[in-house]
Amino acid sequence: MPTRTDEPGRVHATQRAGLGRTVVLVSATSIIFVTLIGAAQWFRSPDVSLSSFEALPRQWLSALWRPWFFIFAAVLFGMQWIFPGRKDENPLSHGLVVDLCWFLLAPILALTIISLQLGALGNGLATVFGKPATDLVPTLGTWKVAILAFVVADLIGWVNHWMHHKYPSLWLFHAVHHSQTEMNVFSDSRNHVVEVLIASTLSFIPAWFLGLNVTQAVTLAIFSSFVSSFIHTNVRINLGPLRYVFISPQAHRIHHSLNDDHYNTNFGTVFSWWDYIFNTKHPDDRSYPRTGITDERFPLERSARPIAVGRTIGSQLLYPFKVLAAPFSHN
Ligand SMILES: [Zn+2]
Ligand SMILES: [Zn+2]
Repeated sequence: MPTRTDEPGRVHATQRAGLGRTVVLVSATSIIFVTLIGAAQWFRSPDVSLSSFEALPRQWLSALWRPWFFIFAAVLFGMQWIFPGRKDENPLSHGLVVDLCWFLLAPILALTIISLQLGALGNGLATVFGKPATDLVPTLGTWKVAILAFVVADLIGWVNHWMHHKYPSLWLFHAVHHSQTEMNVFSDSRNHVVEVLIASTLSFIPAWFLGLNVTQAVTLAIFSSFVSSFIHTNVRINLGPLRYVFISPQAHRIHHSLNDDHYNTNFGTVFSWWDYIFNTKHPDDRSYPRTGITDERFPLERSARPIAVGRTIGSQLLYPFKVLAAPFSHN
């Protein structure tokens, strides 16, 4: 396989100093600043304790114990066998084992790093803005606000995804997600913690401003996780006319495609209309191309043995940092 000159990143040298980059940098700096204010408040409080970490194993198990998800996953696995998107992909691949480990790891990251970050950010937002100025719950009602927050979060998810393809340093983290060569129902769990941290932060901010409570936010996140599992499954489904509203497994496979012509298209997670609006929808709604990345430095899984899988996940987590540090390590 020839070495691609545009790796890392499916970015085709689009990174330029411009308004978009300035907005990203100013937003990131503001969010970090507000988070630090929240963290400082938190650590000043005499109530700070590590007791919640003692409950971590129980919380981890209860986050994993989702019977409806497992029934849903079993149905999708059956569909993969009956009408696969690609017949030459093994539903029981090494990649599936790695994805399952990412699936087990995700709640630990959510309960520790991400909940700490969002807790600090929530504290910071409350300190800076007080009560959400645009609290729409009393006017619109709880579930209308929840649906609005879901649509806004999906748009923010689209922007976040687009940014991870546009900027080479962000692509290095997103490459972990794109490294799966045999898609399956658990492939959506394969995400670098830095990418999850950015995505959850960007989704949290509008939910906070809209006044969404934790139960509704979690319910919407769970619904979104079902959709995300579905679109990563290797099934021959393009949703027919519904594809103009929702992302299908076929459309998302185009997004994961190794074919250059498919790069930087179909960024949506739930709604496909964002791709139509921003002109990033690929017109191909029939083919099921091979998936993966072509960066030869990327630590792809070669074995399903437990130690090898553990090493692979560790290497995939370190991969972006190693590539980012490489120019400095030669000096
Ligand atoms: Zn992507
Ligand atoms: Zn994906």
